[in-house]
Amino acid sequence: MEKVLIITGGSRGIGAATACLAAEQGYAVCISYLRNQSAANQIVQTIMQIGGKAIAVAADVASEQDVIDLFQTVDQQFGKVTALVNNAGILERQMRVEEMDADRLNRIFTTNITGSFLCAREAIKRMSTRRGGAGGAIVNVSSVAARLGAPGEYVDYAASKGAIDTLTIGLAREVADEGIRVNAVRPGFIYTDIHASGGEPDRVERVKAFVPMQRGGQAIEVARAILWLLSAEASYTTGALIDVAGGK
Ligand code: NAD
Repeated sequence: MEKVLIITGGSRGIGAATACLAAEQGYAVCISYLRNQSAANQIVQTIMQIGGKAIAVAADVASEQDVIDLFQTVDQQFGKVTALVNNAGILERQMRVEEMDADRLNRIFTTNITGSFLCAREAIKRMSTRRGGAGGAIVNVSSVAARLGAPGEYVDYAASKGAIDTLTIGLAREVADEGIRVNAVRPGFIYTDIHASGGEPDRVERVKAFVPMQRGGQAIEVARAILWLLSAEASYTTGALIDVAGGK
């Protein structure tokens, strides 16, 4: 049976690294992207150059219809999905709680938690052995912020990642006897473009001070943990929240 992966926000950063590693490991990969079609197409090209299979599909994970369409496109192109990585996520400028408004909170929660929920729902419909599926695995990309809270920086983002952790545990238990495993990785500081929206240019310099391993992580280091959780090597692991954070 073909291994079919959908990865949201797969055109750059942790998503792109995961898409490429998955292709190397034999997955047919669907990279879903929000706006940057040329970046997504570039990852598809990279995968095809190594003899892999990939497509890029535009989808805003916050839109229920986009998510439904995304999974239907993959049904047609590759067949039933066997692996999902809920990677798409946003954070906004660093600020204290008094400055935050409901619109910002809603934007963050709609992408980070509604998006993960909708994609997981569509994946489970297809994977569940109770519904004629062949099983599968889901990995949600959370953050160490879920347990640290990101005080004075992004308590809203941290709360959305806390919700992802709870969703991971709940879904893992709900579908454990349907051939589906659900886990999360919790990255610490990883060198990607997401920090441009955090509005703290010197953060990279500060990393050494607050990470025990005294460095930030690379996207590929997160990708390796994700691929392990998706693989049969992790066959008895479900509902786990795995930090990839240099000891933070
Ligand atoms: P990134 O900004 O490069 O990637 C995020 C991706 O999500 C982008 O491709 C973006 O277009 C996509 N995206 C955003 N909103 C979307 C939407 N509504 N629909 C579809 N796609 C959307 O940053 P990254 O660091 O690679 O982030 C990947 C994940 O890792 C995120 O969930 C992020 O919260 C998490 N994370 C990152 C770090 C870090 O330090 N980089 C730490 C902890 C967790």
